[in-house]
Amino acid sequence: MTRDNINTTLVGIDIPSLSIVVPCHNEKEAFPRCLSTLSDILDNLITENKISKNSYIIFVDDGSRDNTWNLIEESSANNSYVQGVKLSRNCGHQRALMAGLSTVKTDISISIDADLQDDTRCILQMVEKYRQGNDIVYGVREDRSTDSTFKRGTANAFYKFMSLMGVNQIENHADYRLLSRRALESLMQFKEQNIYIRGMVPMIGYQSDKVFYSRNERLEGESKYPLKKMLALAIEGITSLTVTPLRLIAALGFLVSMLALIMSIYTLIQKLHGDVIEGWTSVMVSIFFLGGIQLLCLGVIGEYIGKIYLETKSRPKYFIEKLSGNDRS
Ligand code: UDP
Ligand code: MG
Repeated sequence: MTRDNINTTLVGIDIPSLSIVVPCHNEKEAFPRCLSTLSDILDNLITENKISKNSYIIFVDDGSRDNTWNLIEESSANNSYVQGVKLSRNCGHQRALMAGLSTVKTDISISIDADLQDDTRCILQMVEKYRQGNDIVYGVREDRSTDSTFKRGTANAFYKFMSLMGVNQIENHADYRLLSRRALESLMQFKEQNIYIRGMVPMIGYQSDKVFYSRNERLEGESKYPLKKMLALAIEGITSLTVTPLRLIAALGFLVSMLALIMSIYTLIQKLHGDVIEGWTSVMVSIFFLGGIQLLCLGVIGEYIGKIYLETKSRPKYFIEKLSGNDRS
């Protein structure tokens, strides 16, 4: 029995071990504050007997081009809380998070972004909610006043569109959440290539709860989610979780066919009346209109076929190049 286990049993209740998983892509500016804040939080939680001593922080370097990995590696030599996972290249936030989560050996894990825009005071609340019997605790942004108007507007449109498309996700929740060991093991059973974690987690089930906070501004570095990546994430979320767009296409096809039927009847009647000199405009407009719709629909269908193609390859989602820090298994 290790010292930590004895400590756990002495208090009489189960004290869970916690790992905080932080994906980092070019985060050299944000890293120092992130490290010191999270280390302080672990110190406090351990002192208060909320979590056990074998808790730690996992920093995942997602193919950074700056010296983020050096910072992680150095700190894992000096700070016993730090474990580092270096991916072989940039795989994107969602995959980096999955890579970090795959190395978790603790009772609970909490994922958070390196810029600490999400309120770290919620970590304690999340742990409390876990101890009340929840397997999943979602961090939910109560207000977005610190986001730019553009970011707020696009985010709102994103959630509205997603729910319209039938994606079941917690509104204003990103990737700040607590997972119990069994919730994490369930998440790891999702073998898909196209991952949108915040859409997958609600599918797991189990008892869950939310903690609310207001999001801070990014203090160091800049957002690694430009509009292009946000759009890619939205498309990924929709196409990997729902086939509603395909159904909409079928419905649209039906509507257009009905329209075509009406048009045929109309043109036949015109012909019977001998009144057939119809305008060039209407022909051109309908050709372009139908051509446009067909191309759009083909594009959406193609997106799904592309997804199937990628899924059938079952390529590895990431490669872990290096690990640093103590193995606390
Ligand atoms: N991130 C990552 N890989 C990427 C892009 C982002 O690991 O390819 C990380 C980034 O370092 C941060 C988190 O994902 O910890 C969220 O990114 P960011 O804060 O830039 O997004 P925003 O808050 O602007 O949506
Ligand atoms: Mg951020």
